Amino acid sequence: MRFDEFPVNTLMDITARPPLVFVRGAGSWLWDHNGKRYLDFVQGWAVNCLGHSPSVIADALAGQSRKLITPSPAFYNEPSMQLARRIVEHSCFQKVFFANSGAEANEGAIKLARKWGALNKGGAYEIITFQDSFHGRTLATMSASGKPGFQERFEPKVPGFPKARLNDLASVERLITGNTVAVMLEPIQGEAGVITAADAFLRDLRELTRQHKLLLVVDEIQTGVGRTGMLWGYEHAGIAPDIMTLGKMLGGGVPLAALVATQAVSCFEHGDQGGTFNGNPLMAAVGSAVMDAVLAPSFLEGVTTRGTYLMKGLSELSARHGLGEVRGRGLLVALDLKIDIASTVTEIALEAGLLLNAPRPHLLRFMPALNVSQEEIDTMLAMLDDALRQTLQG
Ligand SMILES: *Cc1c(COP(=O)(O)O)cnc(C)c1O
Repeated sequence: MRFDEFPVNTLMDITARPPLVFVRGAGSWLWDHNGKRYLDFVQGWAVNCLGHSPSVIADALAGQSRKLITPSPAFYNEPSMQLARRIVEHSCFQKVFFANSGAEANEGAIKLARKWGALNKGGAYEIITFQDSFHGRTLATMSASGKPGFQERFEPKVPGFPKARLNDLASVERLITGNTVAVMLEPIQGEAGVITAADAFLRDLRELTRQHKLLLVVDEIQTGVGRTGMLWGYEHAGIAPDIMTLGKMLGGGVPLAALVATQAVSCFEHGDQGGTFNGNPLMAAVGSAVMDAVLAPSFLEGVTTRGTYLMKGLSELSARHGLGEVRGRGLLVALDLKIDIASTVTEIALEAGLLLNAPRPHLLRFMPALNVSQEEIDTMLAMLDDALRQTLQG
């Protein structure tokens, strides 16, 4: 089928997409409607932790779909409890509420913090978030986000999200008032361009929030489930937050997210929270298959090893082409190009059969499958080398 034969105009035009239709995926590779193959370092936007269409996910979906797809959230189902058990057994939290997207999990976190404030802090409701942060595209999560360009859209915003500066404790302290109930942040700001919250900053923030009896909420939608080489991003700092949100890789490609909290903070009462598809067994079964793969012996060490290998290769490229910093953790990595050529580089790479992401005009972000091979990293580096040479010469 030719591209212009697809009913493209039936979709709302919400973003600029290349004239390609992807029809098949396997591991680190995707195929378009012409049968052309692409090496994928976007992976559904840091979603497909085990690559495209891995058999563990196909098997979980097929097996569970024949047993029970959804009994209604008004009843218990075993896969949701099994997945919740895996999350709490390997984290500092005790309670889980499942959602269908990251933004929905964050909405839940905001509601839980506000509920806790109503019960424990005289109605305090403000949640301090950070400049350049990204928490989703619902009204409340856009309001919580510090993404440039979000501020003027869809006014009026949901109130109660003053913005501090990442890695600047005084900027947080200045915003604390009697109305403050929580501080919420990404351990690594992904959409902002892979900006890490320093371990010392996270420890200071935990201390500060404890002193002021505030909740610490970590948005681990991009960093959770092994992306950084540890199961959760907060573990690098050795802290124990009160609330965590998960999404993206938790489902390995299917819509699954979670709001996770300590026992002490889990104060929802009947009627406060819910959702038709939340905790459905089909998606939960996939979540358990993903968690089992990520928790398998030496899987996370492999993420760290390949992340280091990727960063080393990118640093060599950067030196060769006179570019900027390489930063990140595990397999969430960015290359600062120093000049605004990222979209040209991604266009040339796409043409050559490599999918890359440019979250900023001067920045490339790499978020491959966690089981990407060293050979695939080498292939990507060689293709990127070519794309950079063409861009800088052209
Ligand atoms: C992707 C992302 C979200 C939003 O998740 P959706 O599933 O797109 O709603 C929220 N926070 C962070 C840190 C993210 O990376």
